[in-house]
Amino acid sequence: KRIITTENIEEDVRIENNLRPESLDEYIGQEKAKEILKVYIEAAKGRSEALDHVLFYGPPGLGKTTLAGIIAKEMGVHLKVTSGPAIEKPGEMAAILNNLAENDVLFVDEIHRLNRQVEEVLYPAMEDYAIDIMIGKGATARSIRLDLPKFTLIGATTRAGMLTAPLRDRFGVVHRMEFYTVPELETIIKRSAGVLEVGIDDAGATALAKRSRGTPRLANRLLKRVRDFAQVKYEGHIDAKVADYALDLLDVDKEGLDQTDRELLQVMIDKFAGGPVGLDTLSASLGEDAGTIEDVYEPYLLKNGFIQRTPRGRLVMDKAYRHLGIPRENV
Ligand code: ADP
Repeated sequence: KRIITTENIEEDVRIENNLRPESLDEYIGQEKAKEILKVYIEAAKGRSEALDHVLFYGPPGLGKTTLAGIIAKEMGVHLKVTSGPAIEKPGEMAAILNNLAENDVLFVDEIHRLNRQVEEVLYPAMEDYAIDIMIGKGATARSIRLDLPKFTLIGATTRAGMLTAPLRDRFGVVHRMEFYTVPELETIIKRSAGVLEVGIDDAGATALAKRSRGTPRLANRLLKRVRDFAQVKYEGHIDAKVADYALDLLDVDKEGLDQTDRELLQVMIDKFAGGPVGLDTLSASLGEDAGTIEDVYEPYLLKNGFIQRTPRGRLVMDKAYRHLGIPRENV
């Protein structure tokens, strides 16, 4: 089973919910987002108003859902969680909105996957806190406007580019989530280890942090796997040796790349001489969904200089050749 996956593995979801920080102060990293949100939250609370609508975008596992929960908590309101693909009909969206209490937060994950009709319900809802309902048919049809409670929509997406302009424009705050630094991940890992009641030393936390691809979800997932090794073989304590041993077994390398990452690079090198290669071609060669490659695999590889995006396609960089131990020809 792949360790770097977009899917929420069921046992991880349970643990993940235990590990979620519950206040902005406990939420590590994303300093820019926290700074902005603190001001907005304080202002909205001072006026007893709903917070402006917020859009978070970026790769999975960087803390979008967690942040939405924290916002609701800091605002002292309820959080209702749903997702783009879960809402099929405009009426379902209307019902959700209508059931919110004043100033509540509605979190819509994968908001780029809302269908057009459902999305259109959101336009007047976000702008005027109202929905338009059609009654009657044919010549006698007319639309009536229903007032909604004031609310905050928090949207999350891995693909900001897939959002329609009318939807994107209705968010007052748009924030791109950043990959986490190794020290930030160390802090998250130590906190999680405390919650999971497993001992970990500094070197152990560093070893895990370095291989977590800048992603807290992955850091927690790796921690949990390594904990199992530590428990069975090393009396429940995680040091660098245990961490490295377990991570090698899990096939996550020192740069945090897993098998699929390496395969992606390898295919680009073997079949396309290192590129440039188009996303769709790559997707066909790997048998992996193009959207997944773009949203899940590429961001980390791009950020860390393993590949580069050019107008003619993706290009493998020297760093990747060195990492894989492949001599670079024709250079
Ligand atoms: P996303 O919604 O972006 O996919 P989540 O909010 O579900 O990501 O976060 C995944 C996991 O990572 C959660 O279990 C959460 O505990 C942890 N996590 C995310 N961001 C942070 C953070 N800033 N500090 C501590 N833990 C975090």
